[in-house]
Amino acid sequence: MVKTVSTVKFYDAHNHLQDEWLLPHMDRIAADLTDAGIAGAVVNGTTPDDWAQVSALATRFAWVVPSYGVHPWDCGNRPADWLGRLESRLASEPRAHVGEIGLDRWILDRAKPDDPRLAGLRRAPLDEQIEVFTAQLALAAADNRAASIHCIDAWGALFDTLRASTLPARGFLLHAYAGPVEMIKPFADLGAYFSFNGSYLDSKRENQRHAFKSVPADRLLVETDAPAMPLPPSLERHTLPRSPSDTRMNHPANIEAVYTGLAQFLGLPRAQLCQLIESNFHRLFSEQK
Ligand SMILES: [Zn+2]
Repeated sequence: MVKTVSTVKFYDAHNHLQDEWLLPHMDRIAADLTDAGIAGAVVNGTTPDDWAQVSALATRFAWVVPSYGVHPWDCGNRPADWLGRLESRLASEPRAHVGEIGLDRWILDRAKPDDPRLAGLRRAPLDEQIEVFTAQLALAAADNRAASIHCIDAWGALFDTLRASTLPARGFLLHAYAGPVEMIKPFADLGAYFSFNGSYLDSKRENQRHAFKSVPADRLLVETDAPAMPLPPSLERHTLPRSPSDTRMNHPANIEAVYTGLAQFLGLPRAQLCQLIESNFHRLFSEQK
């Protein structure tokens, strides 16, 4: 049988292909991504412990764009030498970006004490998160690398921090944007791009979905955050076994279904959305500085 090769190109602005839950399935995942037409995926490290794995994937797959950072959930457990390690990692990888970094008040105010995703993590207070975030933002700005930013329940603090900081000239990504619709313009004026996550196709997430109607066309991106943030089961085209802690895992090749769902929601032909995302992805994450 002759396999049809996809001519459509998809770009995942934010995922975690290095996640230990995905690694046992990597050969199959890579084949599915190639069949789907993956042309670029920003793979985000979250702690010094997973940066080598991100780097290995970037060596193995030409479409992997490596990104390194300390995630706000991992901030409280960072090793003492984390910043020096990040500086040397970035110095040795000129095409790498900075992320996933950010601010998260949900872990402090709303997350359950026994949430399995936070097991074993010390939940760093917001002041400490801001200190770690701004140090990483400064590294991104110094070399004009894109910063990929996570934010939950801390939109005011994030805006104030960004406004007071030197930012990368090429801009930064607010991944899986779930902030207020009124803040989209002020963030865009600072240089923000906004990535639409497939979980927002769920009928219960109308607020998040609706906000994307206000995102400027030249700042829109699409992401999976795989293996996190799965799509509604009816829209998934690729599945994986459940994780060891029995949560549903998101297969990164579902990026195609995210494009399809977003194109329908925005009332755009999918091919037109593909062109738009391709040029936005290259503008934010290309090697030219
Ligand atoms: Zn992420």
